[in-house]
Order: sequence, then C-alpha cells, then structure tokens
Amino acid sequence: MKKIPLHVKILSGILFGAIFGLLLVYYSMGSFAITWIKPIGLMFLNMLKVMAVPLVFISLVSGVSSLRDINTFKRIGVKTIAIYITTTFVAVLLGLFIVNIIDPGKALSATKREEIRAKYAENVSKKTADASEQIKSKAHPMQFFVDMIPTNIFKSASDNTQMLPVIVFAMIFGIAMVVTPVEKVNGVRILFESLNEVILKMIDIIMEFAPLGVFALISSLIVEFAGDSIANAIDLFKALGLYSLSVLIGLAIMVYVIYGAIVILAGKKYFTFFRKILPVQMVAFSTSSSSATLPVTMDACEKELGISNEVASFVLPVGATVNMDGTSLYQSVAAVFIAGAMGMELTLSDQATIVITAVLASIGSAGVPGAGMVMLVIVLNSIGVPTEGIALIFAVDRILDMFRTTVNVTGDMVVATLIQESENKRKVKNV
Ligand code: ASP
Repeated sequence: MKKIPLHVKILSGILFGAIFGLLLVYYSMGSFAITWIKPIGLMFLNMLKVMAVPLVFISLVSGVSSLRDINTFKRIGVKTIAIYITTTFVAVLLGLFIVNIIDPGKALSATKREEIRAKYAENVSKKTADASEQIKSKAHPMQFFVDMIPTNIFKSASDNTQMLPVIVFAMIFGIAMVVTPVEKVNGVRILFESLNEVILKMIDIIMEFAPLGVFALISSLIVEFAGDSIANAIDLFKALGLYSLSVLIGLAIMVYVIYGAIVILAGKKYFTFFRKILPVQMVAFSTSSSSATLPVTMDACEKELGISNEVASFVLPVGATVNMDGTSLYQSVAAVFIAGAMGMELTLSDQATIVITAVLASIGSAGVPGAGMVMLVIVLNSIGVPTEGIALIFAVDRILDMFRTTVNVTGDMVVATLIQESENKRKVKNV
C-alpha cells in the first residue's frame, strides 16, 4: 500500500479536528472535549516541548564544532542576524502599508466596540499586568543583552522561554571545541554527533503522533473559543473580519511573495519548496509556538531542504527566538487598527515609531502562544494608544496567532535556505 505523506495526515488531523470540534459545540458537548480530547493535544505539545532544550544544545554544539574555523561561524552569524532584521523590517512596513489602505479601524461601530471591550475587559487587565511585568524586566535598553548571558545553565535550561542563554552557552561550548586541538576533543565531538542522530530520530517518532495531536489541539481550541454557541463565535468573527483580513493578506504576501522571491533567489523551485515545508507549517499552525515547532523545523530543514547541520543548528534556534516576521507584521496592523478604532489619527512619526517598536517587540516576543499580543503593549505605549484597546482584538487573536506563528517559522526556514545557498556558492568558489 502506498504510504500517505505526513502533511496529508496532518492536514486531515486539522480538518477532522475542526469538524469534530464544531459537532461537539453543536451538541453542547464542549466539556467532553476539554476533559478527554484536550489532554491528548497537550501530551503531543509536551513531547515537542521536551525536545527543545536538548535539541538546541546538542544540535548547536555539534553544528558549531563541525565548522572548519571560527571565521565561518562569524560569517554565518553576521549574515543571519542581518537578514533576520531586514526581513522583520520588511514585514512591519508591509503591515503598515496594508492597514493604511484597508483602514479596518473605521469599519467598527461604536456599540460593537463597547460590547467587545466590556466582554473582554477582565482578560485584558491580566494581559496588561503580564506585559507590564515584561516591560519592567526589559526597562533597561541593555537588559536584553544582559539576560542573554546565563548565570546558571541548568536554570536557563529548565525554562523553555529562556532559549537565548542556552544558545549562547552552547555556542561558546562549540567554539571552544573548534579552537581546541582535534585529538583532545574528538571523543566529545563523536558523542555529540551521535546524540544528534538520536535526537533527530526521537523527533521522527514524535511526528508519527502529529496527526492525532493536531486533531486534539484544533478540536479543543474550537470548543474553547465558541463556548457552547456557534453564533457567538461567528458574531465576533464578523466584527473583526476586516482587521483579520488585513493581517492575513499581509501574512500571505509575506510568505508567497517576499519569501517566495527569496526562495527563487536562493535557486530553489518555488512550489517544491513550499510543498516540502508544509508539514512544518501545519505543526506551527496547530501549536502556535515557534519554540514547540523547532524540533520539526530542524528535522525538515536537514532532511528535506538539504540544509547542513552547521547552518540549521545555528540559524533555526536563533530564528525561533528572535525572528518573528509574522508577529511584527501583526503588531503593526493591530496598533494602527486599535488606534483607528479608538478614533485616533496617527502621524507619520507615530508610524515610524511603530516600525521601530514592532521590530523590537517581535524580537523580544518568546516563541510561545500569545506572546506577540503581550508585547503589543510596548508598541501601543510608544504611540500613546490606551492598552485597553487590546480588548478589541482579543477575540480573534488566538486564530491569528496560528497564522503568524506559521509565518514566523516559514521565515526561519527561508533564511536558512538562503544562508545555505550562499555558503554553497562560497565553497564552490573556493574549490
Ligand atoms: N506564537 C508566536 C510564535 O510562537 C508568537 C506570537 O505570539 O506572535 O511564534
């Protein structure tokens, strides 16, 4: 019998999950999903999450230590960061362009706004509190860099949202291996290479459960979102449709036009590339977490896209933490939408402020569900828009999170492809 491709199985999981979720809502059996189905989704999510720290550490050490010299590491590092920041800027500009054209803020009626605001006021005060905690901890401009250096590697490794310190530690470990005479570190090198193989195999095994995992995640998400009334969900969808559309159009252009162009620039076939990354995109979509998706992203890049371990192990973990093009695009659209909905006119300098703060806020967002919305507070504060305005977008945020996470992860894979291509060209030239 012909084997069904993984992305077809995962897509079926998403589809059946959506249908099943809607049926449960229809028959008022939501609590069944929360009690019995959601835990299955959480088990799948936990399996992915548990891989994150060992994978980043082992893969990065084996990747960096396989570099021939320290200059290669510097070159890849500088290129990666430069391209990441450039694509994030492009994403924010694109978001601003679209939201200014569609101007969804004006489309909301005042009564509807009040209704939504009242409904979600409670949730928002919690989000705002979360955000002010985060802002307080990032109050100093240099704090981001201070926090990058771990004080205790076990402490950082025990928290999935603290990936940067682990990355820094693993990089120094790997660099130390490169500059130590080969005969002295050969044992460690072989150990890490073997560990890397085992980790990748573990991810393969976990992915066998992906269709079931996404089925459970999507169906329980629908139940949680709709409560026991489909009409409730549909009403909110309608009110915020235009705003969501602006975000979705922006994200689609980012993926299929901007990334598409980069893919072609990197000498890859457009459709083949997008077909190969589809399973990864589906996991990103279902988990709404770049960090949770990271194991799958790395696996696919190395096995499907022909990206070397030395490039993938550096570019992807760094990307999962700092490169969030989807999030930055969404933040710029959301900021302008909320300002518009509250009747505020934004000046050109306000829009320029959005560009800077959205780039920074997206870099500071952790790769976990909802992080982008928490950091949106920074963008709103910077242009003097009341943060309660987040109430307006709360209802659709969970859904948009799924799409922006997909874009965040796609961006990482596209940049990894570009870097690999430039490294390949360099090798050919040097031969
Ligand atoms: N969920 C997103 C991610 O993990 C971050 C966000 O909330 O925008 O990439």
